[in-house]
Amino acid sequence: MRWTRSLIPTLRDDPADAEAISHKLMVRAGLVRQLAAGIYVYLPLGLRVLDRINRIIREEMNAIGGQEVTMPVLHPAELWQQSGRWDAIGGEMFRLKDRNGRDMCLGMTHEEVIAWIAAREIRSYRDLPQIWYQIQTKERDEARPRSGVLRTREFLMKDSYTLDPDVAALEISYNAHKEAYCRIFDRCGVSYVIVQSDPGMMGGAGAHEFMAPSAAGEDEVALCAACGYAANVELARGVPSGPALSDAKREEVATPGVRTIAEVSARLQIDPAATIKTLVFIGPDGPVLALVRGDHALHERKLARALKAESRPAHPDEVTRHLGVAPGSVGPVGVGGVRIIADESLREGRYVVGANREGVHLTGVTPGRDFDCEWADLQVALPGEGCPSCGKPLRIERVIEVGNIFKLGTKYSVALGATFLDERGQQQPIVMGSYGIGPARIAAAAVEQRHDPDGIVWPWAIAPFQVHLVPVAMKDAAQMAAADEIYRDLRAAGFEVLMDDREERAGVKFKDADLLGIPIRVTVGNALAKEGVVELRQRGTRTDRRVPRSEVVAAIREMAQTIS
Ligand code: ATP
Ligand code: MG
Repeated sequence: MRWTRSLIPTLRDDPADAEAISHKLMVRAGLVRQLAAGIYVYLPLGLRVLDRINRIIREEMNAIGGQEVTMPVLHPAELWQQSGRWDAIGGEMFRLKDRNGRDMCLGMTHEEVIAWIAAREIRSYRDLPQIWYQIQTKERDEARPRSGVLRTREFLMKDSYTLDPDVAALEISYNAHKEAYCRIFDRCGVSYVIVQSDPGMMGGAGAHEFMAPSAAGEDEVALCAACGYAANVELARGVPSGPALSDAKREEVATPGVRTIAEVSARLQIDPAATIKTLVFIGPDGPVLALVRGDHALHERKLARALKAESRPAHPDEVTRHLGVAPGSVGPVGVGGVRIIADESLREGRYVVGANREGVHLTGVTPGRDFDCEWADLQVALPGEGCPSCGKPLRIERVIEVGNIFKLGTKYSVALGATFLDERGQQQPIVMGSYGIGPARIAAAAVEQRHDPDGIVWPWAIAPFQVHLVPVAMKDAAQMAAADEIYRDLRAAGFEVLMDDREERAGVKFKDADLLGIPIRVTVGNALAKEGVVELRQRGTRTDRRVPRSEVVAAIREMAQTIS
């Protein structure tokens, strides 16, 4: 492709609203433009990257027996009503009515449609197993679209679904996906960890996420270098340091003006771990007190799992209405008619808690004795806490979720009547699995993991072009003729080449080449006339090599072997 005939609108400055590096660089390199919050246009270079990723995904999905289909983006509400998700999903689903007033929605995912097809087309155990996949647009009204293409409201997803006769067969389909995903991320040049995850609204029997380490990620995972334990912090349970074995008497202490854990521990000269943080949430059945140790934080997903329902933090006026005191003074002792859930770490020890009176705290409180409660895992795992498998210290890392795999089980097949006749002629529900990958997140994760101060360093397999050809002096007929010839030869040899044929200073072209991050730059400059050589530069290592004009193709073939 010739630059002068292309749309590659590079920018010198970062977009004002961008924080994530991938967001800045993908906009500056002219890959994407934002149309509205969380809605992006992919310009030619951005689309080339997506296409390369999608090609790899297709190859690996086909290799495990996947069959490509395309399902609609527009769905009738009935399917989602049958699965129960019409009501279970809140504002994230785009809903609309057709001209006859029928409820419709835009597909966030396609389990319902898959189960609908299976209900009609699968009859017998002989029709199983099946793997169906698509690379299709998903629409989700994300609460916080941010970080460029990492979290958008419209995005491409590779979603695949497995249909099996039983759980043992699902295990095989699941593992085939797990391995295919490893090959996809390896080939795309993205480094990742595989972690256990919370199946959440998908329901089901087990799930893993593929997480690309990056500061721009919105997820955190707990990892143990000693035994390989790896879990999303939504699920991970670190073994906290021992409980606070205070021998304080059970008594009231005056704490005027004290509201936060930090203030309580400073005033009473105690470790924050010797206090209880009492948080008020509003669940479907009213207020809930959630208790974690003072040095811990509550994970809202863990609370949702314990409550088997979503809840939200209470507003200050709701706290006052239900508990008769402002948020900073709430405690679990003596409250009636309010559900109390305490983190497991509070089973032992004595603690300081709010006394439900302004300016007063209680010391020496023993959970389970001084107040009744349910026990659950509520806390966010902290770095350095013990690994739940082996006890060695956990590491917490920030990651981008690039893919996930779920053992769905029979939730959707039962709801939508997707059954088959087994070998004995008995009707059984199909056992399903569901597997997602975000191509845009792969692209952005690659940029997050592979860049330098001058721009992107694309992995070879997903770069928009492999060779960036820069003739330095456009007015020099010999240089241009050589550049044209190299362009032709490289393309004939199967390389994708971008030729920067703009009438720009060499410095401008080099800067843009660094920004775009195409793996190999070929510079045709003065050295051609003087010594008959051109310069090859590897973007990642910035190593230069001068090769005779006639050996360019061979040299690039050789370099290509070494770049990943
Ligand atoms: P998250 O927890 O980040 O919201 P999710 O669990 O909702 O992700 P899935 O519904 O399982 O994700 O989607 C499968 C894949 O699609 C994800 O692993 C991710 O790569 C991609 N994906 C999900 N939501 C978005 C989004 N809003 N923008 C871009 N890609 C997304
Ligand atoms: Mg989501």
